[in-house]
Amino acid sequence: MAYLIPEASKSSKLPVKNFIKNGKWNTDKLKTILSNHIAEHINTIGIGNSNLKDQVFWDLTNYGKYSNKTAWNLVRFRNTKQPLINKVWHNSIPFKMSFLAWRIWKRKVPFEDVILKFGKHLDSKCYCCTVARDQTIDHVFSQGTITSKVWNLFVSPLGIKHSHLSVRHVINFWYGNQKKFRIYKLENLVGRSLQMAIHNTFQKYNLILPWKDICQDMYKLNPVIKTQVVCWQKPDTGSTKLNTDGSFNNNNGKAGLGGALRYDNGDLIMAFSIKAHCNNHNIAEAKAAWYGINWCLQNGYNNFTIESDSTVITDMLKNKKASNFRLNKIIQDTTELLRQATVKHTYC
Ligand SMILES: [Zn+2]
Repeated sequence: MAYLIPEASKSSKLPVKNFIKNGKWNTDKLKTILSNHIAEHINTIGIGNSNLKDQVFWDLTNYGKYSNKTAWNLVRFRNTKQPLINKVWHNSIPFKMSFLAWRIWKRKVPFEDVILKFGKHLDSKCYCCTVARDQTIDHVFSQGTITSKVWNLFVSPLGIKHSHLSVRHVINFWYGNQKKFRIYKLENLVGRSLQMAIHNTFQKYNLILPWKDICQDMYKLNPVIKTQVVCWQKPDTGSTKLNTDGSFNNNNGKAGLGGALRYDNGDLIMAFSIKAHCNNHNIAEAKAAWYGINWCLQNGYNNFTIESDSTVITDMLKNKKASNFRLNKIIQDTTELLRQATVKHTYC
């Protein structure tokens, strides 16, 4: 009402029952303060028990109580739904691929045509065509020579010829013509490629078309895990043995260094586990060895065997030089330390 009659007094304490006469709306009275069409509309609302006090009823919920959600839905501005682009979000599609598809659709990728809107001219030329063209979104993802070949590779088996349209047009075309697709042809093509790829890894296993059987059989294929038991061998009587190991996570550079020093009967002298940051797996192994050796010397253990599961590191310590320049410093430091001790290197 406040929207409809903004000039009306908001502090009016007039009860609704003043506008009800003999169990019916007093339309004439309503019309004295409201416009005709509102009065007519009120006329259509059921009155209920006219003896009860006025109470606020939030029309947007079934139970009459106010909720932020319904209020938000009332005032929000909704974009028209784009069912097509919403289909890129799917559990089976890696997030970054969905996100890229969404960005291309929304034209939020920094190509020539997008940057131009901000008043900057990139003057970028593509490398995919014999005659270089401007690197626009549509060129790179639909119209370029190589892109067209890739599209055709997939759409030809479906009975479609890729045309040099904008990306949005191409996607719309795909979506709108699904019923015409010869999907069995594409399944056949993918099926045969899979057959070949699987056969290379699992020679004994014969995947057989149709597609559904291949999918079921694929789930049953597990990689064969080979294991080998490694035993700890006692060092020479009267000496000690240092075992070290380094692990490294390629994704974030985090590494773990660990090791243990034992007497010749296997009793533990010390063990360590340290967090570190490394450039690669070999550096983690080398740092673990350096830390262990340094501890031994500092604590008076000068006669020990060092054992590592890294051939690269044991070889480097034996030859006293590193072929890898990143490793050179740490190998030099370690061999320097080893001069102070009687050391045997073994590989487990
Ligand atoms: Zn091109």
